[in-house]
Amino acid sequence: MIRDFEYFAPKTLKEALTLLDKYQDEAKVIAGGQSLLILMRQGLVAPKYLIDIKGISELNYIKSDAKEGLKIGALTTHRTVEKSPMMRNGFSVLAEIERNVASIQTRNWGTVGGELCHGDPAEDPAPALITLNATLKMASLKGERTMAVEDFTLDYFETALKPGELLTEIQVPVVPPHTGTAYTKFTVIENDLPTVGAAVSIILGSGDDICQDVRVALSASAPIPMRAKQAEAVLRGKKITDALLKEAGEVASTEAEPLSDIYASEEYRRELIKVLVKRMGKEALARAKKA
Ligand SMILES: Cc1cc2nc3c(=O)[nH]c(=O)nc-3n(C[C@H](O)[C@H](O)[C@H](O)COP(=O)(O)OP(=O)(O)OC[C@H]3O[C@@H](n4cnc5c(N)ncnc54)[C@H](O)[C@@H]3O)c2cc1C
Repeated sequence: MIRDFEYFAPKTLKEALTLLDKYQDEAKVIAGGQSLLILMRQGLVAPKYLIDIKGISELNYIKSDAKEGLKIGALTTHRTVEKSPMMRNGFSVLAEIERNVASIQTRNWGTVGGELCHGDPAEDPAPALITLNATLKMASLKGERTMAVEDFTLDYFETALKPGELLTEIQVPVVPPHTGTAYTKFTVIENDLPTVGAAVSIILGSGDDICQDVRVALSASAPIPMRAKQAEAVLRGKKITDALLKEAGEVASTEAEPLSDIYASEEYRRELIKVLVKRMGKEALARAKKA
């Protein structure tokens, strides 16, 4: 049963930040409520004040700029990202991911910002955002700050957001030429959170097939959406072959810290990481060659 709370529905960012500043830890922000309401119904979260930010239209947008890249307001829904014509020029992987996030109903109401702020290590968008070198903008009455997506989740369901702060924007820089990015997940139930997810982004040199830079990130493989830096080191600076991709998968599987739960054992997750990193490395490479 949901415990009683006082409800606010601010219409501007300033109003929301003022309320958050006033009630601090006693308040909880709700956007689409797809994750939060489950926790409230289970009694795991029982805020005294609920601040509903869904009506703040200034945080609901997607902008694309040739110099600054993509900017996604925190209240943009998964469905809007999935359908946006701005998900091209290297960003199309984000639309691909969204197509397989939850049901259409959840995608229609759940927000990308809410997903990230929930801090679930099994979420789909975070690994791809990490490989795309994305940052997050946060605001409080004291001002704004930005942080890399890879630093934002601190532990299971714990993020770097401070009391009084809201996530306002997801920023994805312009994707360099000859970059390919790919993400896939293995799930027991179709369009559900991944048992394991893997994203790989590869930047090739101009006119050669040497890997100038690479990023590998995993979901449901550690307490946070995790960057697999040792796996990246296997590929960086080299001409990528199937053998190297296999090695990168094996290294990622070793550096990951997966749990055993009702969906999969730790051992099974490590096997999945090997397979998915290799597979996405191959796909990212093919895309980079065409980009
Ligand atoms: C049945 C089901 C299936 C799902 N399947 C998938 C899946 O396949 N893949 C996947 O990746 N996800 C999946 N999800 C997760 C879903 O995508 C998230 O629940 C949703 O995106 C959360 O967004 P929201 O706007 O509803 O957040 P809310 O539930 O409103 O909020 C979540 C948390 O973030 C905080 N918060 C929200 N917005 C902000 C903000 N702007 N600033 C600061 N804090 C904020 C809230 O206080 C709360 O702690 C699934 C969820 C359900 C219910």
